Amino acid sequence: MLDIKNLHVSYGGIRALQGISLHVPEGKIISLLGANGAGKSTTLRTIMGIVKPTEGSIEFLGGNILGMKSFQVVMKGIALVPEGRRVFTNLTVTENLALGAYTRTDKVQIQQDIEEIYELFPRLREREKQSAGTLSGGEQQMLALGRALMSKPKLLMIDEPSLGLAPVLSQGVLSRLKELNQTRGQTILLIEQNARAALSIADYAYILETGRITLEGPAAELATNDAVRKTYLGIH
Ligand code: ATP
Repeated sequence: MLDIKNLHVSYGGIRALQGISLHVPEGKIISLLGANGAGKSTTLRTIMGIVKPTEGSIEFLGGNILGMKSFQVVMKGIALVPEGRRVFTNLTVTENLALGAYTRTDKVQIQQDIEEIYELFPRLREREKQSAGTLSGGEQQMLALGRALMSKPKLLMIDEPSLGLAPVLSQGVLSRLKELNQTRGQTILLIEQNARAALSIADYAYILETGRITLEGPAAELATNDAVRKTYLGIH
């Protein structure tokens, strides 16, 4: 579905990505793991057209998307849940969800889809009229996820969903992702620092270190790889 080849990105003198290649097949959960500053968010920002690469190619469903503006990338079927959740704090839960459908014109269907999100996240329904800024961190993460789903993305990209969440909550968010993948066939590109959690739901994973992919493979294999266990899972 998504095919990235030899991507290079620099911020002034900082070479954030130094020739990464990765593939996201339809219907899979692919995870991009790495420490702080490895270039994970830069990869997502480049796919969304927020950052311009100096070299490389990005194809989505067989067509080039490099050079497109972010709204055009969204129209093609890619949604990003950015790091730090970033819901519209002064708007209600329902208004936040409705905004996620801004690229769509099928108003009746939008209402039904909001209902569907509430079925998926009953906690949000209980708080539909509450302003988003008053939700807990975990609830805001669910709202950010729900809002991204409102654009009916073919590819859902999520930047560190478990950041700042208690382990039990982050496990909850990740299980929802797995559920979306299994029940709807949702394709997901998941960025995580918590390698253990990400490998437990992903099909395949890439490890990014200072702008380069140093290791990749089926998630189950990486979870038993000695280097991964030492560096990312803290098992010696
Ligand atoms: P984290 O897990 O901490 O969010 P990350 O893997 O997502 O890290 P990026 O945010 O992609 O990492 O950053 C990659 C590198 O690029 C870092 O060295 C960072 O300091 C640098 N960088 C990111 N954005 C900018 C910017 N706007 N200007 C200059 N340097 C930047």
